[in-house]
Amino acid sequence: MTEQAAIQTAGPSAGAAGAKRMSIFDRTVITGVVLLTSVFPVELFSTAPPPPRGSDGQYSGKQGQVVVVKVPQQEEVTEVKGTLLNRTIPFFREYRRGEVPGYVGLVGIDLQDEPGTHELAVVVKKGEEVKHLSYNVLVAKEKFNVEHLTLPKDKVDLDDKAVARWKTEQEQVKQALIENSASRLWRSSFVEPVSGKRTGIFGSVRVMNGQPRNPHNGEDIGAPLGTEVATTNDGVVRLTVDHFFSGKGIFVDHGLGFYSMYFHLSEIMVKDGDLVKAGQVIGKVGATGRATGPHLHWGVKLNGARVNPYTLLDLPFSSAAASSAPSASPAATAASPISAEAISAKE
Ligand SMILES: [Zn+2]
Repeated sequence: MTEQAAIQTAGPSAGAAGAKRMSIFDRTVITGVVLLTSVFPVELFSTAPPPPRGSDGQYSGKQGQVVVVKVPQQEEVTEVKGTLLNRTIPFFREYRRGEVPGYVGLVGIDLQDEPGTHELAVVVKKGEEVKHLSYNVLVAKEKFNVEHLTLPKDKVDLDDKAVARWKTEQEQVKQALIENSASRLWRSSFVEPVSGKRTGIFGSVRVMNGQPRNPHNGEDIGAPLGTEVATTNDGVVRLTVDHFFSGKGIFVDHGLGFYSMYFHLSEIMVKDGDLVKAGQVIGKVGATGRATGPHLHWGVKLNGARVNPYTLLDLPFSSAAASSAPSASPAATAASPISAEAISAKE
C-alpha cells in the first residue's frame, strides 16, 4: 500500500523522534503486525495498538484548500470519522473503478489554520470493534492579498443596535447550522454559481475605511443586478436570511457538515427545507447587506473550516461515467495527497 510507504516520509519532527524512542519491543510488535497483515488479508480492529502519529500516511494542502483523504477499507463498516484540529470529519463510502474500496473524507483546511503538521486521527468502527488510524496533514501557508474597501460609515462602525442585531443573526446561523444532514446529499461535480469577475478574493485581509477587519471568508463574484445564482451542488436549503452584513442570503446543506452560502442577493427563490439540485437557480445577484455593488458572495464551510469555494470545482468527483483511466490531474490543484490515492471520477 502506498500508505505504508508514506511512513518513511512522515513529518521530520514527530516521525523521526518517535522512531528513535521506539523500543526493540515496539519494533517487534510492529513487525509482527506488518507480517500478520501481509499474510492474512484481515482488518485489524480491537486488537491493534494505537498507531504512531502519522503512520498511516501524509497529506498536504494550503490554508483554505480541501484535502481528499481516502481510507482503504475492503468491507463496509459502521462508521469512519476523522478529527483534525478539533473538527470532526465524517467519511463516506466511495466506489471507484480500479481502486481499493474505501471511505473518503473531505478535509477542509481553514483559512486561519496554523501552518505546520497536524494529526488527522481516524476512527473506523465496525459494530463494537474500533480501529484507529493516524495521518499527518501538512498545512502550508497561503499568501493572502490585502484589500482596501470604502463603505458607508454605519456598516463599518456599528452602533449598539447594529451590534445587537449582528449578534442575534450570528446566533441564528450557528443554531441552524448545528443541524446538518447525516448523509451525503451531493453527487455530481460542483458548479460555479455565477460566472463573472472575481472581485473579492478568498482569504484577503480586509481593511475597511482604514480599519483592519476579519479576513474575507468567501469569494466575491461581480455580476449585473438580477443575474441568476445557481446552487453549487445537490442539497437542502437549511436557512434563508436577510441579515445586516450578508443581506439576503441562502445556506445550502450538502450533508456531512458541508455548507455553501450565497449572500447579498436581490431575490431569494427558495425557502427553508427545499431540496435543490446542482445548477438549480436559487436566487438573483444583488447588493443587499454590506456590499459596495451587485455581486455574489459565495462561501463554503466544511465541518467548520472556511475554505475557498473555488477549490470545490477541482474536486475529483464527477457525474460522468468513470473511465478506465484514473484522472489524477485535477485533484493535484485541490490538494496533494502524498499517499497518492489517485481519486478518479466516480462511477
Ligand atoms: Zn464577500
